[in-house]
Amino acid sequence: MRIVLISTPIGFLGSGRGGGVELTLNSLVSGLLSLGHSVDVIAPKNSKLCRSNEKAKLHCVEGEAQISWQHQNYNAHVSIPDNSLLAGMLENGLEIAKKADVLLNMSYDWLPIWMTLNVERPIAHIISMGSESSVISNLISRVYAKHPLNFAFHSKTQANDYPFIKKPTIIGNGFEIDNYNFQDSVNGALAWVGRVAPEKGLEDAVYVANELGEKLRVWGVKEDEAYASKIEQSFPQGTIDWMGFVSTNELQKELGKCRVLLNTPKWNEAYGNVVVEALACGVPVIAYKRGGPSEIIQHGQTGYLVVPDDKKSMISYVEIIEKIKRKKCREWVEKNASTDIFAKKVVNWLNKVMNEYK
Ligand code: UDP
Repeated sequence: MRIVLISTPIGFLGSGRGGGVELTLNSLVSGLLSLGHSVDVIAPKNSKLCRSNEKAKLHCVEGEAQISWQHQNYNAHVSIPDNSLLAGMLENGLEIAKKADVLLNMSYDWLPIWMTLNVERPIAHIISMGSESSVISNLISRVYAKHPLNFAFHSKTQANDYPFIKKPTIIGNGFEIDNYNFQDSVNGALAWVGRVAPEKGLEDAVYVANELGEKLRVWGVKEDEAYASKIEQSFPQGTIDWMGFVSTNELQKELGKCRVLLNTPKWNEAYGNVVVEALACGVPVIAYKRGGPSEIIQHGQTGYLVVPDDKKSMISYVEIIEKIKRKKCREWVEKNASTDIFAKKVVNWLNKVMNEYK
């Protein structure tokens, strides 16, 4: 199969602004290449694929980024800037797709989904978020009525945000397991990883650390600086240990030394890459039972699931985290979330989409 992948128009690959889509795209490319498929990636200028994905063709496009939908009002209209990066990426992708089998869109936005109705080639969509916009959800519903196979979701809970989808295709996610080293360090710090933005609920994890008299090591892009400093000012100085946004390799080296990852989403997290990355290093995870993490974490085996927003309960689980066997965390990832498993699910789904167009 020759597949043309459209990346997120929010940030270049490697910036961290594109959130989990950046890693998911690289994992997918690597899985598809190892299954013998050919891949073109259309992405914003300055994007880089990871070294092992050199065989994929990267096409970079310049233009003005979209605003992320989760940071707009739910009923906001679609806005497309002049010199739109997204439109440029799609123009480029459509041209290359003339010689390809399928266009695979990974951007959560209106234009590529709308195109499904107006272009004869197959366009499949990996929906990377829960319902964050009425205009997009309504459009998905319209397109679904005509092309019911063209959408895939990362988790069942995420798909539930689109109740008109009757039997959603769930593809989970994939991780390059060799990129994560297992570490059996049970006395490390508390960790939190993610974009620093309100939907990620960092303040709850800082609360937990502070109540326990510990520091919280925080990795990720400060997407919302004002939100970050507000949290910092609400707790005693030094409670947050800002580690910045680092490469996967640096992240896994340091994260693996930690005792537990706290995951405190305030939204219906589509999947939660950072949960699996921690598990791959052997780090158990305590998460709110909300969105993807509630399908990933096996309560009592690889971490604990907590009633959403119940910080006190989170504290009590941190106190017994040593009961979790770190090897079990790593094993779960090996058995359930490798790049090969992920790519096979995607290929299986894309074959169905392509058959619909024959
Ligand atoms: N991440 C990273 N370096 C960091 C912190 C985070 O590469 O220092 C990446 C992490 O690997 C993950 C992504 O940021 O792939 C966050 O994705 P997630 O699915 O957890 O949340 P999203 O941002 O998509 O809502």
